[in-house]
Amino acid sequence: MIAENISEIKKRIWEVCKKVGRNPEEITIVAVTKTVPVDKIKEAINAGIYDIGENKVQELLEKRNSIENVRWHFVGHLQTNKVKYIVDFVYLIHSVDSLKLALEIEKRAKKINRIIDILIEVNTSGEKTKYGVKPEEAIELVRQISERCEFVRIKGLMTVAAYLPNPEDVRPMFRLLKQLKEEIEKFNFKNVEMKHLSMGMSNDYLIAIEEGATIVRIGTAIFGPRNQKVK
Ligand SMILES: *Cc1c(COP(=O)(O)O)cnc(C)c1O
Repeated sequence: MIAENISEIKKRIWEVCKKVGRNPEEITIVAVTKTVPVDKIKEAINAGIYDIGENKVQELLEKRNSIENVRWHFVGHLQTNKVKYIVDFVYLIHSVDSLKLALEIEKRAKKINRIIDILIEVNTSGEKTKYGVKPEEAIELVRQISERCEFVRIKGLMTVAAYLPNPEDVRPMFRLLKQLKEEIEKFNFKNVEMKHLSMGMSNDYLIAIEEGATIVRIGTAIFGPRNQKVK
């Protein structure tokens, strides 16, 4: 099941890339594995997944003991007091939305002399329940992180779009994220390389790719529905 789901997703990614003239190699699939048990995650890894995303520090740490040779992405809301648990191994933190959090990552990263790659999470839907910096405050946040951090490297932007019955309706949110990325690029901020757009989930990853996603975060379409309600 899982292997088939992954090959189906890859096929669709190839097709949509062909349609819009993009190279499928520039797209990374992050398998989002919250609530998914280790044996299922291993199935996905055997089927060619190399990037794993979790949204809770505790769960990530538990799973990490039994899973090797993957790149760990942190995609959920990160509390400053939890940064220290992931800073020595995390591959990419997708969800930085405050200077305070960035400064904590900086402090912890400096201590162990490790560069940490992050994305800035932007709330493109305007929903109050969503994390992320407001679009109009994103450039200022990037500027401040760039000025104050040496060990934190901004690699792009991330968004969790609204969940809408018609995925077509989320397109404007993806466009907004891409526009912001292009605006930020023009400033040439120090330690900022606007390489990635992390956008698109099971419901809307093809549209996200049409709009420029370089990272798609997929859970349900790989592992099936989660039985617990998780944020
Ligand atoms: C759960 C989650 C996903 C994956 O969602 P699916 O709809 O199951 O593909 C992606 N990004 C974040 C931040 C998540 O929490």
